[in-house]
Parts: sequence; C-alpha cells; structure tokens
Amino acid sequence: MSATLPVRNVARCSCGKVEFEAIGAPILRSVCYCDDCQEAGHHLQALALAPAVLDAQGGTAFVLYRKDRFVCAQGGDLLRAHKLRAASPTKRLIATCCNAAMLLGFDDAKWWVSVYRGRFTGPVAPVQMRICTRFTPNGAELPADVPRYARYPFQFIAKLLAARVAMLFGR
Ligand SMILES: [Zn+2]
Ligand SMILES: [Zn+2]
Repeated sequence: MSATLPVRNVARCSCGKVEFEAIGAPILRSVCYCDDCQEAGHHLQALALAPAVLDAQGGTAFVLYRKDRFVCAQGGDLLRAHKLRAASPTKRLIATCCNAAMLLGFDDAKWWVSVYRGRFTGPVAPVQMRICTRFTPNGAELPADVPRYARYPFQFIAKLLAARVAMLFGR
C-alpha cells in the first residue's frame, strides 16, 4: 500500500445534497480543451444555477480517480447522465438538485472517472498538464505553467495504464 493512502477528499454539488468521497491520490490532474468538453461545458454551465465549468480559456479542469476510489456517499438518486450524442461512449453526471456537473464517466468498463475539479471541498494538488490543446478557442492564450499537449499525450495514457496495473495487483 502506498504511503500516500488513505487521503480522503470530498466532492460535493453546490447545494450539498450530492456527495462523493475520493480515496487516496488521484491518477492525474489535467485541464482538457477538447471540443467535446467545450461543447458540454457550455451546455452544462448554462443550466439554471449551474456553477461554471469552463475556465477563461475554454478549458475544463479534471481530477482523475480510479472508479473504485471515487464513491458516491449520498444523493446518488439525484444524479442524471448527460450525453452529448446518443451514441457517445461518455456521459457527464449532473446533480439535478443544483445542476452542478460532477464527473465525466464511461458507459463501458473503463477504470477511471474524471471529476470536475471545482467540486472538491478539500485541497487538490496543482494541475500537471494541459491536453487536447489543438481545440483551444481562437485567440485564447494558455498559461505556460505546465506541459501542454495538442492531443492525449503518452504521459496521460501511461498514468491511466499504471493505475490499471495497480488495480489488477490489488493495490
Ligand atoms: Zn445539489
Ligand atoms: Zn475533453
């Protein structure tokens, strides 16, 4: 067991009815500029009372957790899945009580979820990378604080795979 576990953080909707518990260190902390995240972000943050999803440059900040380490603690019945297109393999879970976007997940057996960073009530370590920057809106100047990648970089995939391997070995 890693020395960093268990560290607990809580992700909550704006009104507090929906709550998730995050256990241990996240897989990765990234900001995504892909066209899907932008389209979904514009839609979701336009819902009544909804908190902002996109940052000033059109990015969506996510904290990626293993599915088994991000557990709904209350209000699960208030969650609704938003799909960009009927055939999308992804879904974004919204807390219907206050229209807060909680996480991006998959319909299939993918082993991680991408949690909207703004939902965390406790401290989250700094962003590590900016990805899919080829979709950055025209004229938006991205901060040069962390590595930027036009697509999904190897470093991103590698962290996901490492998390999968750790799960298979029961860690
Ligand atoms: Zn709520
Ligand atoms: Zn994206």
